[in-house]
Amino acid sequence: MTDAPETAAAAAPVANRLRIDEHGHLVGDAWITRNDPFPCVNGQFGLTPPMNGAVLHTNVGGLPGTIATFSNPAKQASAHFEIGGHWSGSEKNGQVRIHQFGPVNGWEAWHCADGNSMWFGIETEDGGDPANPLTSTQLTACAQVLEALSAHGDWGFPLQVTDNTNGKGLGAHYMGGLAWSPNGHTCPDPSPAGGGPRSHQRGEIVRRAKILRQHGQYPAPAPHPAPKTTPLLEDTMILLNQGEGAITPIAIPNGAKRLRFASNSEATLHADFGPDHGGSRAIEVAYMAASGVAIPDGAIEAVVHRIDGGLNQVACTVTE
Ligand SMILES: [Zn+2]
Repeated sequence: MTDAPETAAAAAPVANRLRIDEHGHLVGDAWITRNDPFPCVNGQFGLTPPMNGAVLHTNVGGLPGTIATFSNPAKQASAHFEIGGHWSGSEKNGQVRIHQFGPVNGWEAWHCADGNSMWFGIETEDGGDPANPLTSTQLTACAQVLEALSAHGDWGFPLQVTDNTNGKGLGAHYMGGLAWSPNGHTCPDPSPAGGGPRSHQRGEIVRRAKILRQHGQYPAPAPHPAPKTTPLLEDTMILLNQGEGAITPIAIPNGAKRLRFASNSEATLHADFGPDHGGSRAIEVAYMAASGVAIPDGAIEAVVHRIDGGLNQVACTVTE
C-alpha cells in the first residue's frame, strides 16, 4: 500500500505543542485517546527518572491490532504510545490518533526488554508493512509526543537522534540488539536493521519537535510582515506639482494619519495644514527613502510647497 503523494499545498492543519500533565497523561489540542483499562495490562509501575529517551517502533499492523495485543496478558508487550495511521482509519481531519497505554510518570512499558527501565516506547502503525514510511501526519504526531516527553521535567531528555543504548534522544528498537529484542527484531525497519525507511525518519521527527518547541506549533507560523502603512486609497498617490515654489493641495480623508513622500532625488518641502493645525512643517526627503509627516488631528487639507528647485519628481501618499 502506498501513500498519496504529499503536495506542498496539502492542507494539513497546524499541529499544536502538547504536554504531559501531573497524572502522566499526554494532553493538548490533538486526537488523543487513553487505553481502557489505563494503564493496559502489560507493564508495571516502578519506573523512575532519569530516562534516556524514547524508542521508535513499528507495529506491522494497525492501531486496533496493537490495542488488542497490548491488552492480552499472554503477549507480555506494550508501549507508552502508538501513533495511528490512515491504514486503520486512525486518521481524520489531517490528524492521526495518538493512543496512550499508560502514564509516563512511573509506569514501565514492555517494549525493549533490557531497555525498558530507561526508555519510553512509541509504536507506530505501518499498515502491516514496515517498508511503508511514516506519513507526514504520523511524523508530526511522533514529534508532538517526543517533544512532550522531552520537556517532561525530570523525565526529559534532549531532542536529538541517538543510535546508542547509552545515548539520549530518539532511538530505534534494533539498536539494542538481542538484549532489546530476543527475537532479533529489526524494528522499526524491515530487515536489515537500519535499512529504513522508518529509522531514517527520526531526524525529521526531531526537526519537527524542535519547531513545536520553538513556535508552539508545526509548521511554524509565517513570518510577521513588516508593519504596514496602508494607503487609504489606491489613488492617494499624488505627484506633486513641479517647479520652485509650486504648491499642491492635498485633501485628507477621515482616518488619515500621515503623509508619506518619496522622491527620485533629495527634495525639500513644506506641508501646511492651516493655522488651526499648527501651520507649516518642513520635510526633507532623501533619495530613494520615504519620509513623512504626521497629520494633525482634524486637519482636512494640506498644501505642500516645493522649497527646492522643484525639478525632481516627488510623490505623496496619504496613509492610515
Ligand atoms: Zn519494536
